Amino acid sequence: MPNSRTYVPPISATGGSHLPRGAALINNSLLNKGTAFTDAERDSLGLRGLLPPRIFPMEEQVKRALGNLRRKGEPLDKYIFLAGLQQRNETLFYRILTDHLEEVMPLIYTPTVGQACLEYGSIYRRPRGLFLSIEDRGNIREVLRHWPQHARLIVVTDGERILGLGDLGALGMGIPIGKLALYSACAGVHPYYCLPITIDVGTDNEKLLQDPLYIGAPRKRVRGEEYDAFMKEFVEAVQDVYPGCLLQFEDFGNHNAFNLLRTYRDKVCCFNDDIQGTASVALAGLISATRITGTKLSAQKILFLGAGEAGTGIADLFTAAAMQEGLSEADARKCCWFVDSKGLLVKGRGDKLPSHKEPYAHDHPQIKDFAEAVAAIKPTAIIGVSGQARAFDEKVVRTFAAQQKQPIIFSLSNPTSKSECTAEEAYKWTEGRCLFASGSPFPAVDFNGKRYQTGQGNNVYIFPAVGLGVMVSQARIVTDSMFLIAAQTLAAEVRPEDVEVGRVYPSLSRIREVSIKIAVAVAELAWKEGLTSLPRPADIAADVRSKMFSPVYQTYV
Ligand code: NAD
Repeated sequence: MPNSRTYVPPISATGGSHLPRGAALINNSLLNKGTAFTDAERDSLGLRGLLPPRIFPMEEQVKRALGNLRRKGEPLDKYIFLAGLQQRNETLFYRILTDHLEEVMPLIYTPTVGQACLEYGSIYRRPRGLFLSIEDRGNIREVLRHWPQHARLIVVTDGERILGLGDLGALGMGIPIGKLALYSACAGVHPYYCLPITIDVGTDNEKLLQDPLYIGAPRKRVRGEEYDAFMKEFVEAVQDVYPGCLLQFEDFGNHNAFNLLRTYRDKVCCFNDDIQGTASVALAGLISATRITGTKLSAQKILFLGAGEAGTGIADLFTAAAMQEGLSEADARKCCWFVDSKGLLVKGRGDKLPSHKEPYAHDHPQIKDFAEAVAAIKPTAIIGVSGQARAFDEKVVRTFAAQQKQPIIFSLSNPTSKSECTAEEAYKWTEGRCLFASGSPFPAVDFNGKRYQTGQGNNVYIFPAVGLGVMVSQARIVTDSMFLIAAQTLAAEVRPEDVEVGRVYPSLSRIREVSIKIAVAVAELAWKEGLTSLPRPADIAADVRSKMFSPVYQTYV
């Protein structure tokens, strides 16, 4: 086992003298090559007879697997097929995911993963990842040790706020599995090091509680001190069992998400993707949109619909970016306005505001309706992070479009069914003038003789790359400045040909190349800010590249 603080591709950890033989080799998804095992390997590794005689190179296997995938009609069937492939042969799975990311990512992540989570109980085939139950309290270290590999990267959820679908309890496992697959495909983090974890502290979803086939513990959610103590034991156990492991909090309910981040961000190597990753990708979109409109970031007025993890996370990072342009913190905060479920966030509104909303309660008369808020605030950008489907209706968008030459519309709620407006609606109601990004992918839109390939403000541009940078540099903690530099680096990768088709993000086809640039920027920052005691390599980019996983078969014999 390599030193737990060193991030190196685990060839020696999985191969070499420990290489399993025969059926055990075929059943090891990280090492299996299926019909691609050579004659020499079949002879010396006890594989004769266990495989059909004809040998197929990986390109042929890809063709066959893609053909099988494309024959399936429903996205959920494609999800199940891909999950099966991942269980059998991870190298082939990642080859397909990496080379066909735009086709396959929506099948293993949003929007299909939403459906997969809803039906996780019935599509569950083989275990993947760890379930930690509240009943395991006092024993979490032991359970973590049951994982057969050495984890350096954990994505953990407690299933309380799965995408925009709400509390799915233990069914949320699809999320950490999907996110980790994206780490490996988009930033080359070796799947060997990745551990998906679902914390089952119960669910308040009545439908699940009544469902006799629900796979989680059929009990109400544990909250308050008992929950906090359980999470404390979990975070500490991770430090003991996998020292230096990067911990990504994912799809926790609003209160616990902020609380966990506040409690642990300066103590252990962790971040919350819904807050910080979203902030970074949205900020990158705003940076490239303002470059197109020829205005400064600090000159924007952003009106958010939804003041939760995503919304206030974006506003906090925007504040940091606007301060870099010279605004005071107070003035930077004043660029960000919010409408939440109670209306426009203003001073003296009457409700007790949680700390993440407080900095954005400005002096203004109360307004309930979002369209009226658009008319009154006159934003340059509207960002939907409310989980409220079609909240950017024709009235909202037309009101906004009447005020701005190039209205910036980010409709970020996931999955597609929850999006505040569709790409088609946004282009239609703004006569093709808007700069649009969405959380889930939309098909290209043809409007007035022009084709818009709408951009997806997908966190996948950020979290795998930030994670890789943190892992390679062995940074002790993950800072907001890393997410700021990640946003700036991502925005700098947007090319004229992207802008030409309406994208404020680089094409997904370049994601590995873009991820390397972001990882390098993050790692450089870790050294610059003294967040690591690792000696600085002479060439950080070469170091990052050398540590990335590529989905190619190893030669065993
Ligand atoms: P959250 O629960 O923390 O916040 C939701 C917010 O929406 C709350 O402030 C709530 O008051 C507000 N809200 C609810 N109903 C409303 C209504 N009728 N009118 C106005 N506001 C209302 O959730 P979150 O983590 O902030 O995520 C919100 C949405 O953003 C989800 O759909 C999620 O999928 C999406 N999201 C997208 C991305 C991305 O595209 N990159 C990333 C993260 C989250």
